[in-house]
Amino acid sequence: MPDWLALYYDDPIEISHGEGRYVWDSAGRRYLDFFGGILTTLTGHALPEVTKAVGEQAGRIIHSSTLYLNRPMVELAERIAQLSGIPDPRVFFTTSGTEANDTALLLATTYRRSNTVLAMRNSYHGRSFSAIGITGNRAWSPTSLSPLQTHYVHGGVRTRGPFAHLDDRAFVEACVADLKDVLGHTRPPAALIAEPVQGVGGFTSPPDGLYAAFREVLRDHGILWIADEVQTGWGRTGDHFWGWQAHDRSGPPDIVTFAKGIGNGMSVGGVIARAEIMNCLDAQSISTFGGTQVTMAAGLANLTYLLEHDLQGNARRVGGLLIERLRAVAAQLPGVREVRGRGLMIGVELVRPGTDEADPRALAAVLEAAREGGLLIGKGGGHSTTALRITPPLSLTVAEAEEGAAILEHALRSTY
Ligand code: PLP
Repeated sequence: MPDWLALYYDDPIEISHGEGRYVWDSAGRRYLDFFGGILTTLTGHALPEVTKAVGEQAGRIIHSSTLYLNRPMVELAERIAQLSGIPDPRVFFTTSGTEANDTALLLATTYRRSNTVLAMRNSYHGRSFSAIGITGNRAWSPTSLSPLQTHYVHGGVRTRGPFAHLDDRAFVEACVADLKDVLGHTRPPAALIAEPVQGVGGFTSPPDGLYAAFREVLRDHGILWIADEVQTGWGRTGDHFWGWQAHDRSGPPDIVTFAKGIGNGMSVGGVIARAEIMNCLDAQSISTFGGTQVTMAAGLANLTYLLEHDLQGNARRVGGLLIERLRAVAAQLPGVREVRGRGLMIGVELVRPGTDEADPRALAAVLEAAREGGLLIGKGGGHSTTALRITPPLSLTVAEAEEGAAILEHALRSTY
Protein backbone atom coordinates (compact mmCIF):
# COMPACT_ATOMS: atom_id res chain seq x y z
CA MET A 1 0.00 0.00 0.00
CA PRO A 2 1.69 3.30 -0.98
CA ASP A 3 1.77 6.06 1.61
CA TRP A 4 -0.56 8.70 0.18
CA LEU A 5 1.22 11.49 2.01
CA ALA A 6 4.75 10.19 1.50
CA LEU A 7 7.81 12.34 2.09
CA TYR A 8 10.88 11.71 -0.03
CA TYR A 9 13.86 9.84 1.52
CA ASP A 10 14.14 7.38 4.40
CA ASP A 11 15.37 10.19 6.59
CA PRO A 12 13.41 13.22 5.31
CA ILE A 13 15.34 16.37 4.49
CA GLU A 14 14.37 19.59 6.25
CA ILE A 15 15.05 22.45 3.88
CA SER A 16 16.11 25.67 5.53
CA HIS A 17 16.99 28.04 2.68
CA GLY A 18 17.94 28.32 -0.95
CA GLU A 19 19.79 30.42 -3.50
CA GLY A 20 19.72 30.06 -7.25
CA ARG A 21 19.70 26.38 -8.11
CA TYR A 22 20.81 25.25 -4.63
CA VAL A 23 19.04 24.58 -1.33
CA TRP A 24 20.47 23.89 2.13
CA ASP A 25 19.12 21.59 4.82
CA SER A 26 18.88 22.46 8.50
CA ALA A 27 22.24 20.75 9.13
CA GLY A 28 23.90 23.11 6.63
CA ARG A 29 24.30 20.57 3.82
CA ARG A 30 24.01 21.96 0.29
CA TYR A 31 22.05 20.26 -2.53
CA LEU A 32 21.74 21.05 -6.19
CA ASP A 33 17.98 21.19 -6.74
CA PHE A 34 17.24 19.20 -9.89
CA PHE A 35 13.52 19.14 -9.07
CA GLY A 36 13.15 22.96 -8.79
CA GLY A 37 11.09 22.68 -5.58
CA ILE A 38 8.47 20.63 -7.40
CA LEU A 39 8.70 22.55 -10.69
CA THR A 40 7.70 25.51 -8.56
CA THR A 41 11.00 27.37 -8.60
CA LEU A 42 11.13 28.57 -12.15
CA THR A 43 13.80 31.27 -12.12
CA GLY A 44 15.82 30.21 -9.05
CA HIS A 45 15.52 30.06 -5.28
CA ALA A 46 15.41 33.41 -3.48
CA LEU A 47 15.72 35.30 -6.76
CA PRO A 48 16.43 38.89 -5.57
CA GLU A 49 14.01 40.44 -8.10
CA VAL A 50 11.12 38.29 -6.83
CA THR A 51 12.04 38.62 -3.17
CA LYS A 52 12.22 42.41 -3.49
CA ALA A 53 8.85 42.61 -5.28
CA VAL A 54 7.22 40.41 -2.63
CA GLY A 55 8.76 42.42 0.24
CA GLU A 56 7.73 45.76 -1.22
CA GLN A 57 4.21 44.53 -1.94
CA ALA A 58 3.85 42.99 1.52
CA GLY A 59 4.87 46.34 2.98
CA ARG A 60 2.00 48.04 1.12
CA ILE A 61 -0.76 45.43 1.38
CA ILE A 62 -0.80 41.62 1.23
CA HIS A 63 -4.43 40.96 0.39
CA SER A 64 -7.53 43.07 -0.01
CA SER A 65 -9.81 40.29 -1.38
CA THR A 66 -10.79 39.72 -4.99
CA LEU A 67 -13.89 41.86 -4.47
CA TYR A 68 -11.72 44.83 -5.45
CA LEU A 69 -9.40 45.41 -8.33
CA ASN A 70 -5.72 45.32 -7.55
CA ARG A 71 -3.05 46.48 -9.95
CA PRO A 72 -0.62 43.52 -9.78
CA MET A 73 -3.50 41.12 -10.52
CA VAL A 74 -4.73 43.13 -13.48
CA GLU A 75 -1.19 43.48 -14.85
CA LEU A 76 -0.38 39.79 -14.48
CA ALA A 77 -3.73 38.77 -16.00
CA GLU A 78 -3.09 41.04 -18.98
CA ARG A 79 0.39 39.66 -19.55
CA ILE A 80 -0.70 36.03 -19.27
CA ALA A 81 -3.70 36.66 -21.52
CA GLN A 82 -1.39 38.17 -24.13
CA LEU A 83 1.01 35.22 -23.93
CA SER A 84 -1.79 32.65 -24.11
CA GLY A 85 -2.62 32.92 -27.83
CA ILE A 86 -6.29 32.41 -26.91
CA PRO A 87 -8.66 34.84 -28.66
CA ASP A 88 -10.63 37.28 -26.49
CA PRO A 89 -8.95 35.78 -23.40
CA ARG A 90 -9.95 36.04 -19.76
CA VAL A 91 -7.82 34.91 -16.80
CA PHE A 92 -9.12 33.67 -13.45
CA PHE A 93 -6.56 33.19 -10.68
CA THR A 94 -6.63 30.30 -8.23
CA THR A 95 -4.21 29.15 -5.55
CA SER A 96 -3.21 25.81 -7.06
CA GLY A 97 -3.16 23.64 -10.15
CA THR A 98 -5.88 21.43 -8.72
CA GLU A 99 -8.21 24.35 -8.26
CA ALA A 100 -7.35 25.59 -11.76
CA ASN A 101 -8.32 22.23 -13.28
CA ASP A 102 -11.44 22.05 -11.14
CA THR A 103 -12.44 25.47 -12.42
CA ALA A 104 -11.69 24.45 -16.02
CA LEU A 105 -13.87 21.35 -15.62
CA LEU A 106 -16.63 23.44 -14.05
CA LEU A 107 -16.49 25.88 -16.96
CA ALA A 108 -16.39 23.21 -19.67
CA THR A 109 -19.18 21.07 -18.23
CA THR A 110 -21.37 24.12 -17.66
CA TYR A 111 -20.64 25.59 -21.09
CA ARG A 112 -21.36 22.31 -22.86
CA ARG A 113 -24.08 21.16 -20.42
CA SER A 114 -22.57 17.71 -20.09
CA ASN A 115 -20.91 16.02 -17.13
CA THR A 116 -19.02 13.58 -19.33
CA VAL A 117 -15.34 14.27 -19.96
CA LEU A 118 -12.47 12.63 -21.77
CA ALA A 119 -9.08 12.30 -20.13
CA MET A 120 -5.82 10.58 -21.04
CA ARG A 121 -4.68 7.26 -19.65
CA ASN A 122 -1.83 7.70 -17.12
CA SER A 123 -2.74 11.37 -16.53
CA TYR A 124 -2.67 13.45 -13.33
CA HIS A 125 -4.71 16.58 -12.75
CA GLY A 126 -4.71 17.29 -9.00
CA ARG A 127 -6.20 16.20 -5.72
CA SER A 128 -9.72 17.64 -5.47
CA PHE A 129 -12.65 15.25 -5.85
CA SER A 130 -13.18 16.03 -9.53
CA ALA A 131 -9.46 16.31 -10.39
CA ILE A 132 -8.71 12.96 -8.72
CA GLY A 133 -11.85 11.54 -10.27
CA ILE A 134 -10.64 12.18 -13.80
CA THR A 135 -6.97 11.36 -13.13
CA GLY A 136 -6.01 8.30 -15.16
CA ASN A 137 -2.86 7.36 -13.24
CA ARG A 138 -4.00 4.86 -10.62
CA ALA A 139 -1.01 5.57 -8.37
CA TRP A 140 -2.36 9.11 -7.89
CA SER A 141 -6.07 8.37 -7.80
CA PRO A 142 -7.07 6.81 -4.49
CA THR A 143 -10.77 6.69 -5.33
CA SER A 144 -12.67 5.39 -8.32
CA LEU A 145 -15.63 7.58 -7.42
CA SER A 146 -16.03 10.75 -9.43
CA PRO A 147 -18.64 13.46 -9.85
CA LEU A 148 -17.87 13.30 -13.60
CA GLN A 149 -18.37 10.50 -16.12
CA THR A 150 -14.85 9.97 -17.41
CA HIS A 151 -13.61 8.02 -20.41
CA TYR A 152 -9.92 7.52 -21.05
CA VAL A 153 -8.15 7.61 -24.39
CA HIS A 154 -4.73 6.48 -25.57
CA GLY A 155 -1.90 8.79 -26.58
CA GLY A 156 -0.23 10.29 -23.51
CA VAL A 157 2.40 7.55 -23.40
CA ARG A 158 4.40 6.97 -26.57
CA THR A 159 6.68 4.12 -25.57
CA ARG A 160 4.31 1.76 -23.74
CA GLY A 161 0.94 0.21 -24.41
CA PRO A 162 -0.67 -1.44 -27.41
CA PHE A 163 0.48 1.17 -29.96
CA ALA A 164 4.12 1.46 -28.81
CA HIS A 165 5.42 -0.58 -31.75
CA LEU A 166 3.98 1.82 -34.33
CA ASP A 167 5.90 4.68 -35.95
CA ASP A 168 4.85 8.22 -35.00
CA ARG A 169 2.40 8.65 -37.84
CA ALA A 170 0.72 5.28 -37.32
CA PHE A 171 0.70 5.92 -33.55
CA VAL A 172 -1.23 9.16 -34.05
CA GLU A 173 -3.65 7.43 -36.45
CA ALA A 174 -4.25 4.62 -33.94
CA CYS A 175 -4.91 7.10 -31.13
CA VAL A 176 -7.32 9.10 -33.29
CA ALA A 177 -9.13 5.86 -34.15
CA ASP A 178 -9.31 5.05 -30.43
CA LEU A 179 -10.70 8.52 -29.69
CA LYS A 180 -13.37 8.08 -32.38
CA ASP A 181 -14.22 4.67 -31.01
CA VAL A 182 -14.67 6.07 -27.50
CA LEU A 183 -16.89 8.84 -28.88
CA GLY A 184 -19.02 6.20 -30.55
CA HIS A 185 -20.24 4.81 -27.25
CA THR A 186 -20.24 7.71 -24.77
CA ARG A 187 -22.66 10.51 -24.04
CA PRO A 188 -21.42 13.69 -25.77
CA PRO A 189 -18.44 14.82 -23.66
CA ALA A 190 -17.90 18.43 -22.64
CA ALA A 191 -14.12 18.37 -22.96
CA LEU A 192 -10.90 16.48 -23.32
CA ILE A 193 -8.36 17.37 -20.64
CA ALA A 194 -4.71 16.52 -21.30
CA GLU A 195 -1.21 17.36 -20.13
CA PRO A 196 0.91 18.06 -23.25
CA VAL A 197 3.71 16.16 -21.48
CA GLN A 198 2.48 13.90 -18.68
CA GLY A 199 4.07 15.05 -15.45
CA VAL A 200 3.81 12.70 -12.50
CA GLY A 201 3.19 9.95 -15.06
CA GLY A 202 6.93 10.06 -15.78
CA PHE A 203 7.41 12.81 -18.40
CA THR A 204 5.90 10.85 -21.22
CA SER A 205 4.56 12.58 -24.28
CA PRO A 206 2.95 11.73 -27.59
CA PRO A 207 4.51 12.57 -30.96
CA ASP A 208 4.17 16.27 -31.80
CA GLY A 209 0.86 16.90 -33.50
CA LEU A 210 -1.27 14.31 -31.69
CA TYR A 211 -3.45 16.92 -30.03
CA ALA A 212 -3.84 18.80 -33.30
CA ALA A 213 -5.17 15.57 -34.84
CA PHE A 214 -7.43 15.06 -31.81
CA ARG A 215 -8.59 18.65 -32.13
CA GLU A 216 -10.07 18.11 -35.55
CA VAL A 217 -12.21 15.28 -34.18
CA LEU A 218 -13.11 17.21 -31.04
CA ARG A 219 -14.22 20.25 -33.07
CA ASP A 220 -16.52 18.08 -35.20
CA HIS A 221 -18.21 16.95 -31.99
CA GLY A 222 -18.24 20.36 -30.27
CA ILE A 223 -15.89 19.11 -27.54
CA LEU A 224 -13.55 21.59 -25.80
CA TRP A 225 -9.84 20.97 -25.37
CA ILE A 226 -8.41 21.78 -21.93
CA ALA A 227 -4.60 21.85 -21.89
CA ASP A 228 -3.26 21.26 -18.39
CA GLU A 229 -0.06 23.33 -18.51
CA VAL A 230 0.60 23.10 -14.77
CA GLN A 231 3.98 21.44 -15.42
CA THR A 232 4.64 22.31 -19.06
CA GLY A 233 3.96 26.06 -19.11
CA TRP A 234 6.37 29.03 -18.98
CA GLY A 235 9.02 27.63 -21.33
CA ARG A 236 9.80 24.52 -19.29
CA THR A 237 10.01 22.36 -22.43
CA GLY A 238 12.48 24.75 -24.08
CA ASP A 239 11.10 24.49 -27.60
CA HIS A 240 7.81 26.11 -26.67
CA PHE A 241 6.44 28.60 -24.16
CA TRP A 242 3.36 26.37 -23.70
CA GLY A 243 3.45 22.61 -24.09
CA TRP A 244 0.43 22.70 -26.41
CA GLN A 245 2.49 24.58 -29.00
CA ALA A 246 4.06 21.27 -30.02
CA HIS A 247 0.57 20.54 -31.41
CA ASP A 248 -0.50 23.98 -32.57
CA ARG A 249 -1.44 23.23 -36.17
CA SER A 250 -5.08 23.82 -35.26
CA GLY A 251 -4.58 26.75 -32.89
CA PRO A 252 -4.64 27.21 -29.12
CA PRO A 253 -6.72 25.09 -26.75
CA ASP A 254 -10.12 26.34 -25.61
CA ILE A 255 -8.98 26.40 -21.99
CA VAL A 256 -5.47 26.45 -20.50
CA THR A 257 -4.73 25.82 -16.84
CA PHE A 258 -1.49 26.86 -15.15
CA ALA A 259 0.20 26.92 -11.72
CA LYS A 260 3.52 25.66 -10.26
CA GLY A 261 6.39 27.87 -11.49
CA ILE A 262 4.71 31.16 -12.27
CA GLY A 263 4.79 32.35 -8.63
CA ASN A 264 8.34 31.01 -8.11
CA GLY A 265 7.00 29.28 -5.01
CA MET A 266 4.12 31.62 -4.19
CA SER A 267 0.66 30.05 -4.66
CA VAL A 268 -0.41 31.20 -8.10
CA GLY A 269 -2.61 29.10 -10.35
CA GLY A 270 -5.23 29.95 -12.88
CA VAL A 271 -7.39 29.36 -15.91
CA ILE A 272 -7.32 31.10 -19.29
CA ALA A 273 -10.34 30.82 -21.58
CA ARG A 274 -12.27 32.76 -24.18
CA ALA A 275 -14.68 35.26 -22.61
CA GLU A 276 -17.75 33.34 -23.81
CA ILE A 277 -16.56 30.24 -21.91
CA MET A 278 -15.34 32.11 -18.85
CA ASN A 279 -18.62 33.98 -18.55
CA CYS A 280 -20.94 30.96 -18.96
CA LEU A 281 -21.49 30.57 -15.20
CA ASP A 282 -24.68 32.23 -14.05
CA ALA A 283 -23.76 32.35 -10.38
CA GLN A 284 -21.24 34.53 -8.60
CA SER A 285 -17.84 33.11 -7.84
CA ILE A 286 -14.75 34.38 -6.08
CA SER A 287 -11.53 32.78 -4.99
CA THR A 288 -10.74 34.36 -1.64
CA PHE A 289 -7.01 33.86 -1.98
CA GLY A 290 -6.73 33.73 -5.77
CA GLY A 291 -4.97 36.82 -7.10
CA THR A 292 -3.78 38.32 -3.82
CA GLN A 293 -1.51 41.33 -4.30
CA VAL A 294 1.56 39.65 -2.82
CA THR A 295 1.35 36.50 -4.95
CA MET A 296 0.62 38.55 -8.07
CA ALA A 297 3.66 40.76 -7.39
CA ALA A 298 5.75 37.58 -7.22
CA GLY A 299 4.26 36.34 -10.49
CA LEU A 300 4.89 39.63 -12.27
CA ALA A 301 8.52 39.90 -11.16
CA ASN A 302 9.10 36.23 -11.97
CA LEU A 303 7.54 36.42 -15.44
CA THR A 304 9.47 39.61 -16.23
CA TYR A 305 12.76 37.96 -15.25
CA LEU A 306 11.93 34.79 -17.19
CA LEU A 307 11.20 36.70 -20.39
CA GLU A 308 14.00 39.28 -20.09
CA HIS A 309 16.61 36.56 -19.55
CA ASP A 310 15.17 34.21 -22.18
CA LEU A 311 15.05 31.31 -19.74
CA GLN A 312 13.04 29.31 -22.26
CA GLY A 313 16.04 29.50 -24.60
CA ASN A 314 18.32 28.58 -21.71
CA ALA A 315 16.12 25.56 -20.94
CA ARG A 316 16.40 24.46 -24.57
CA ARG A 317 20.20 24.84 -24.69
CA VAL A 318 21.18 23.55 -21.25
CA GLY A 319 18.41 20.93 -21.25
CA GLY A 320 19.62 19.68 -24.64
CA LEU A 321 23.16 19.23 -23.31
CA LEU A 322 21.89 17.50 -20.19
CA ILE A 323 19.73 15.08 -22.18
CA GLU A 324 22.67 14.24 -24.44
CA ARG A 325 24.95 13.67 -21.44
CA LEU A 326 22.41 11.44 -19.67
CA ARG A 327 21.73 9.43 -22.84
CA ALA A 328 25.44 8.65 -23.07
CA VAL A 329 25.34 7.29 -19.50
CA ALA A 330 22.11 5.40 -20.15
CA ALA A 331 23.65 3.66 -23.16
CA GLN A 332 26.04 1.90 -20.76
CA LEU A 333 23.48 0.91 -18.12
CA PRO A 334 20.89 -1.79 -18.90
CA GLY A 335 18.67 -0.58 -16.05
CA VAL A 336 18.09 2.77 -17.74
CA ARG A 337 15.43 2.10 -20.34
CA GLU A 338 15.08 5.59 -21.71
CA VAL A 339 16.10 9.22 -21.22
CA ARG A 340 13.26 11.32 -22.62
CA GLY A 341 11.90 14.83 -22.62
CA ARG A 342 12.78 18.22 -23.95
CA GLY A 343 14.14 21.39 -22.40
CA LEU A 344 14.41 21.07 -18.64
CA MET A 345 11.67 18.47 -18.31
CA ILE A 346 13.67 15.24 -18.45
CA GLY A 347 12.52 11.75 -17.52
CA VAL A 348 14.87 8.84 -16.89
CA GLU A 349 12.95 5.58 -16.93
CA LEU A 350 14.40 2.78 -14.81
CA VAL A 351 13.68 -0.93 -15.25
CA ARG A 352 14.87 -4.15 -13.71
CA PRO A 353 17.93 -4.94 -15.85
CA GLY A 354 17.18 -7.52 -18.51
CA THR A 355 13.43 -6.90 -18.25
CA ASP A 356 10.96 -4.22 -19.23
CA GLU A 357 9.49 -4.04 -15.72
CA ALA A 358 9.29 -1.08 -13.37
CA ASP A 359 11.96 -0.96 -10.68
CA PRO A 360 10.74 0.95 -7.60
CA ARG A 361 13.67 -0.29 -5.51
CA ALA A 362 16.24 1.06 -7.95
CA LEU A 363 14.29 4.32 -8.10
CA ALA A 364 14.47 4.70 -4.32
CA ALA A 365 18.14 3.68 -4.27
CA VAL A 366 19.11 6.20 -6.96
CA LEU A 367 17.24 8.95 -5.13
CA GLU A 368 19.06 8.13 -1.87
CA ALA A 369 22.46 7.89 -3.59
CA ALA A 370 21.89 11.20 -5.38
CA ARG A 371 20.95 12.80 -2.11
CA GLU A 372 24.19 11.48 -0.58
CA GLY A 373 26.00 13.12 -3.48
CA GLY A 374 24.19 16.43 -2.90
CA LEU A 375 21.53 16.25 -5.61
CA LEU A 376 17.75 16.38 -5.28
CA ILE A 377 15.65 14.76 -8.03
CA GLY A 378 11.97 13.95 -8.44
CA LYS A 379 10.39 10.60 -9.03
CA GLY A 380 7.28 9.51 -10.85
CA GLY A 381 5.81 6.92 -13.11
CA GLY A 382 2.65 5.03 -13.79
CA HIS A 383 1.52 2.56 -16.44
CA SER A 384 3.82 0.08 -14.58
CA THR A 385 6.83 2.36 -14.96
CA THR A 386 9.31 4.05 -12.66
CA ALA A 387 11.06 7.25 -13.67
CA LEU A 388 13.34 9.93 -12.30
CA ARG A 389 12.06 13.41 -13.01
CA ILE A 390 14.56 16.21 -13.64
CA THR A 391 13.20 19.76 -13.63
CA PRO A 392 15.73 22.25 -12.27
CA PRO A 393 15.00 25.99 -12.34
CA LEU A 394 15.14 27.22 -15.95
CA SER A 395 18.15 29.37 -15.01
CA LEU A 396 20.36 26.27 -14.64
CA THR A 397 23.91 26.91 -15.90
CA VAL A 398 25.96 24.52 -18.03
CA ALA A 399 28.37 23.99 -15.09
CA GLU A 400 25.48 23.11 -12.79
CA ALA A 401 24.01 20.75 -15.39
CA GLU A 402 27.40 19.03 -15.60
CA GLU A 403 27.68 18.85 -11.80
CA GLY A 404 24.20 17.31 -11.48
CA ALA A 405 24.79 14.85 -14.33
CA ALA A 406 28.02 13.66 -12.69
CA ILE A 407 26.29 13.06 -9.34
CA LEU A 408 23.40 11.29 -11.05
CA GLU A 409 25.76 9.15 -13.11
CA HIS A 410 27.50 8.08 -9.92
CA ALA A 411 24.15 7.33 -8.23
CA LEU A 412 23.02 5.23 -11.22
CA ARG A 413 26.30 3.33 -11.43
CA SER A 414 26.29 2.60 -7.70
CA THR A 415 22.71 1.26 -7.98
CA TYR A 416 23.05 -0.90 -11.09
N1 PLP B 1 -1.94 19.20 -13.00
C1 PLP B 1 -0.71 18.69 -13.17
C2 PLP B 1 -0.25 18.32 -14.56
C3 PLP B 1 0.15 18.52 -12.09
O1 PLP B 1 1.35 17.99 -12.26
C4 PLP B 1 -0.30 18.91 -10.80
C5 PLP B 1 0.58 18.76 -9.63
O2 PLP B 1 1.57 18.09 -9.63
C6 PLP B 1 -1.58 19.44 -10.68
C7 PLP B 1 -2.37 19.57 -11.79
C8 PLP B 1 -2.09 19.84 -9.34
O3 PLP B 1 -1.48 21.03 -8.96
P1 PLP B 1 -1.40 21.44 -7.42
O4 PLP B 1 -0.53 20.43 -6.73
O5 PLP B 1 -0.83 22.84 -7.45
O6 PLP B 1 -2.79 21.43 -6.91
